[in-house]
Amino acid sequence: MTETVDLLAIAAHRDDVELTCGGTLARAARAGHVVGILDLTRGEMGTRGSASVREREAAAAARVLGARVRLNADLPDAHLANDEATRVRLVELVRRTRPRVVILPFPVGRHPDHRVASAVARDACYLAGLAKYHATPGHEPHRPFKILYALAYREDPVRPTFVVDISEVFDVKMEAIRCYASQFDGAIAAGEIVPTGQDLYELIRVQAAHYGSLIRKPYGEPFFTHGTMEVDDVMGIGVQSM
Ligand SMILES: [Zn+2]
Repeated sequence: MTETVDLLAIAAHRDDVELTCGGTLARAARAGHVVGILDLTRGEMGTRGSASVREREAAAAARVLGARVRLNADLPDAHLANDEATRVRLVELVRRTRPRVVILPFPVGRHPDHRVASAVARDACYLAGLAKYHATPGHEPHRPFKILYALAYREDPVRPTFVVDISEVFDVKMEAIRCYASQFDGAIAAGEIVPTGQDLYELIRVQAAHYGSLIRKPYGEPFFTHGTMEVDDVMGIGVQSM
């Protein structure tokens, strides 16, 4: 079975991609792109739930989103490091999945795993293209064309480079998040989100509505990219100025 994908979202923990870019993944899958998810850890350090419960939850969430591949790098939760062994492991997974576009966590983050995941996955995306770097038979060198950083839930937000309109798949994103009952049911202060006392699902909805408002749509997910965005036809640029 091939594990080749068009779009690969990489994150430290199961449930991270559902929260930060689940709508974008669902939209891409519905547009006919092959979507994959690479979780770096199994969540064994999580306060709530166990690694085996979260594995079942993650598989269910992937089905909801329409992701065809969901891999786990089996790296140590809460002990992620940008070291040689981790880079080699991720280079192998990038060469196996061969994505054109990769979504990573933003490089600034409260959880050390999120910061490290961003840096080590970015490094692996580069190194995977070096033919002589840990060459393995059957896995040709590959370098993703585009790296995007998911910005949702940043507490020190930078201005998004763009926002993806997820209005039509917002219910799908929420259904995927609800697959993680062990993490979120009854939660008012999950790990990645500032505890405000609000119901977590309502907080996710409010934040997605805020990002959507930036592009004058009901719901959105924000992204940052270091590269400059190219426009083919200025007549087609979205978001009304005034
Ligand atoms: Zn996380």
